[in-house]
Amino acid sequence: MSQLDRRTVLKAGGAVAALTVASAPQAMAAAPNWNRLSRSLQGGKLFMPSTPGYAAAHQLFNPRWDSVQPAAVVRAAKTADVISTINFARDNKLVLVPKGGGHSYVGASVISKGIQLDVGPLRGMTYAKNGVLTVGAGARLYDVHAFLDRYGRSLPTGTCPTVGVAGLTLGGGMGIHTRAWGLTCDRVVGMSVVTADGKARVINAKSDPDLFWALRGGGGGNLAVVTSFQFATIPAAKIGFFRLTWPEARAAAVVAGWQKFIQHAASTAWGNLHLDAKSNGTVSVHVLGISTTGNAAAAAAQLESFVGSKATARSITVKTHMEAVKYLGGGTTSPRTGFLAGSDVLRAPMNASSINALIGAVKSAARAKTPAAAIIDPLGGQAAKQPAGGAAWPWRSALGVIQWYVGTVAHPSSAQLKAAQTFIDHGHGAVRSFSAGGYANYVEARRGVGTYYGSSLPRLRAVKKKYDPQGFFHTPYTFV
Ligand SMILES: Cc1cc2nc3c(=O)[nH]c(=O)nc-3n(C[C@H](O)[C@H](O)[C@H](O)COP(=O)(O)OP(=O)(O)OC[C@H]3O[C@@H](n4cnc5c(N)ncnc54)[C@H](O)[C@@H]3O)c2cc1C
Repeated sequence: MSQLDRRTVLKAGGAVAALTVASAPQAMAAAPNWNRLSRSLQGGKLFMPSTPGYAAAHQLFNPRWDSVQPAAVVRAAKTADVISTINFARDNKLVLVPKGGGHSYVGASVISKGIQLDVGPLRGMTYAKNGVLTVGAGARLYDVHAFLDRYGRSLPTGTCPTVGVAGLTLGGGMGIHTRAWGLTCDRVVGMSVVTADGKARVINAKSDPDLFWALRGGGGGNLAVVTSFQFATIPAAKIGFFRLTWPEARAAAVVAGWQKFIQHAASTAWGNLHLDAKSNGTVSVHVLGISTTGNAAAAAAQLESFVGSKATARSITVKTHMEAVKYLGGGTTSPRTGFLAGSDVLRAPMNASSINALIGAVKSAARAKTPAAAIIDPLGGQAAKQPAGGAAWPWRSALGVIQWYVGTVAHPSSAQLKAAQTFIDHGHGAVRSFSAGGYANYVEARRGVGTYYGSSLPRLRAVKKKYDPQGFFHTPYTFV
């Protein structure tokens, strides 16, 4: 039994299991009438294990979750399909998980023995003259950018072309525009959702303001199924890029200098720091940065001055909106990839001993030939400000987010997973005294759900009680 299966039975099934024990006659309840669900769909499609295409239908981006077998997959074609599926799951006491782009780090968008509700086909987009994009929750990031580019517009998002707009936005959404324009969730001005009672609602800062607040950073799969988002877009301006590399011997100075840069640079400047474990036992150190002014030379020079030495390799370029999207995403699509990852949100700049421990964690991984990386994304600037209407995303005053990432084969052995987890554990240990919690979009299996939501957690729980009093949306990664 996979870790997810086991946790699903123990925890996600907790509510269901409790019901089963409390009301034994329910055990004799009729099996779900799947034909009824299938007939109720208005263009959507039901996949059962016997349906051709079932295996492909429930796949996520990370092949590690291919072995998790849902009882059924519903590919919703309309909001009506989302409503029917939620009502069916609720009536039959089945666990339901929504799926957008399928990039969840822990496979939270597929569930053993429950229903996977895939909103992928809901990916239509319209652009209004007031600069607002309406986009179906099934859209992927590359498609959103390609569509907006036609209007000379863009959106602050992450970089992977196939990540779903749904999961990214619901958990926050960090990328090159975070400091200049805020998180993806900060640009949301409205959403269409279906709540656990099967009711379709259009929500914004005035209508269901609590739910609107909660869905802006409160994580996917917790409160409702989003069917579409409305975003206030930003100009698709030219972006200046810099890429600076230093030798391993300068790693501590680079981390310290980067921390100063993030505190002092203009919010038009952004740069994420990469410490990569190389298979020859060394650590490579670089910062990939941008300036939304179109000229990155000044930002690069400022970073070098904080580091106290010139980079040994340096490139400065300018890219159009779509050139930047393709460069950052490595193209227009992204092949399915195995990985194990985690995160720490830095509440303040690390001291020298924590910086050394962080570098030591990457160095140990390099020596062990574990393909690990610590990638630190900056916050600050616009991300430090609450958007109009408020957002549940809790890390406004933090310095940045460290991602602990290990690439794996599609189906890693337990020894490979153990080596990857060892690196992540070392990373957590290295920065423990500077960590405020984790980033909901980099969710981990072995971390308390509450640690992703900081001071927003009590209000999120109150919103959950109001909109999902029976805990219908319930997985190991859901706050209750
Ligand atoms: C290769 C890669 C690159 C990434 N790059 C970035 C990055 O640059 N910046 C960044 O911030 N993050 C990044 N991420 C993390 C990414 O934001 C999260 O994994 C995100 O949750 C993925 O969303 P999804 O819709 O693709 O995934 P899914 O697995 O479909 O969904 C993720 C969660 O949201 C829920 N959910 C999905 N759709 C809905 C819906 N319609 N309504 C309600 N809940 C829903 C799911 O149940 C699940 O819990 C990256 C991830 C990967 C794998």
